[in-house]
Amino acid sequence: AALVSHRVRRRWRWGQAVTLVRELEEACDTPVGRLRQVVDAMAVEMHAGLASDGGSKLKMLLTFIDNLPDGTEEGTYYALDLGGTNFRVLRVQLGGKGSMMSHKVESQPIPQELMTGTSEELFNFIASILKRFVQSENDGFQQLPDDRKDLGFTFSFPVKQLSISSGVLIKWTKGFSIEDAVGKDIAQCLNEAMSKIGLNMRVAALVNDTVGTLALGHYNDEDTVAAVIIGTGTNACYLERTDAIIKCQGLLTNSGAMVVNMEWGNFWSSHLPRTSYDIALDDESPNRNEQGFEKMISGMYLGDIVRRVLYRMAEESDIFLDPAKNLSVPFILRTPLMANMLEDDSPDLTQVGRVLEEHLKISRVPLKVRRLVARVCDIVTRRAARLAAAGIVGMLKKTGRDGSGGVESGRTRGKPRRTVVAVEGGLYIGYTMFKQHEVLGGLDISIPNQMEPLNTKLYEKYKNLKKRKFFAEDEWNRKR
Ligand code: BGC
Ligand code: MG
Repeated sequence: AALVSHRVRRRWRWGQAVTLVRELEEACDTPVGRLRQVVDAMAVEMHAGLASDGGSKLKMLLTFIDNLPDGTEEGTYYALDLGGTNFRVLRVQLGGKGSMMSHKVESQPIPQELMTGTSEELFNFIASILKRFVQSENDGFQQLPDDRKDLGFTFSFPVKQLSISSGVLIKWTKGFSIEDAVGKDIAQCLNEAMSKIGLNMRVAALVNDTVGTLALGHYNDEDTVAAVIIGTGTNACYLERTDAIIKCQGLLTNSGAMVVNMEWGNFWSSHLPRTSYDIALDDESPNRNEQGFEKMISGMYLGDIVRRVLYRMAEESDIFLDPAKNLSVPFILRTPLMANMLEDDSPDLTQVGRVLEEHLKISRVPLKVRRLVARVCDIVTRRAARLAAAGIVGMLKKTGRDGSGGVESGRTRGKPRRTVVAVEGGLYIGYTMFKQHEVLGGLDISIPNQMEPLNTKLYEKYKNLKKRKFFAEDEWNRKR
């Protein structure tokens, strides 16, 4: 009898693991009908965020950038990129006619302790690395005292711009938390740190990473009107008509347009498919109730959502023979590891087994359980990619480029209008599954391959922008 009851229990407990996965699948479901609601909510929130400051969770920040590079630019430029994970310094030499004569990049991970220290420590670190880079460039030549160089600074956090070259930090995201920097002019912080160590440079442009991506996209293809980052964090920016930016009446630019940084990571809608795991992740995060969209989509969080599901499965069933203690450690399952598991197409899912064993210290996981683990990864990734795609369509809807206005609205002077969206970010670039899950509906949207600004791969890849249609047309149209 004891043996029988043991067997029954085992079977029940396996059943419980399967039930949890089924429930997850249901809760994360993104049928086209629901995606449409997200598309509409995004467009509505964009309007509200443009109407007044604080009108929406979407900040719709002005960038003061009213025209974008077109390939005719010449000269040598220095730039810094402070993102979520890496810090890069680079120099590019542009030769006009869309050519990049040379470039040099230095990249390194941002030391963890600097992400939560003081702003002085952070900016001193940045300035000192920049100084070393510039000095190695000049091969020992002395910089003339009046030879002040302009610097482009890509700073991937929400900033309220005061001008093209200055702006105050609104809040940190992506695990950064340097309290004394909030409310400070970021360009000024860097300028001070540079002058303290005798580096004769000044921030000439302070831009969000989405804006940098849009600029590069436009440099290569003038039909580029929007840019999206799907990396450690997520965000988008696009070119908006100034008269649509109601909160800034009388805003005049030469082009009649301005790039708007949406900060869509903070988007929220009741239509988003939220689970108990998302709620727990948010509750335990340092920025609770903030960056809700980002927490469902970006690389900082996807692995941890999966970890939470696996942890609950381990607690409520006995699918893992080893005690799964490591699963209780926040962020132990980094998103790239999850990507490894998901991209395992070997019949016996060896990668999944290896990740579980090496990184989570769970060994001897049977194939049937490895399959369940892979399914969890798939559910979470699919939801993320489809929501990001809905965000893109929402943005295009707001600007009348989603194809819904009939054939005419999609044409200029008889020619079909092209819309190019530049997409960048570690999760998007390095994770093929992510791209496959995107659904953009039957739109003529090109997403150039490998948008990697500020990266060594940059130049060669761009010469032949590949046009890729990015949709599951059937799925979208069937439900229309
Ligand atoms: C930041 C954005 C940034 C995005 C992608 C988000 O967390 O708020 O400013 O563009 O990450 O790096
Ligand atoms: Mg980046």
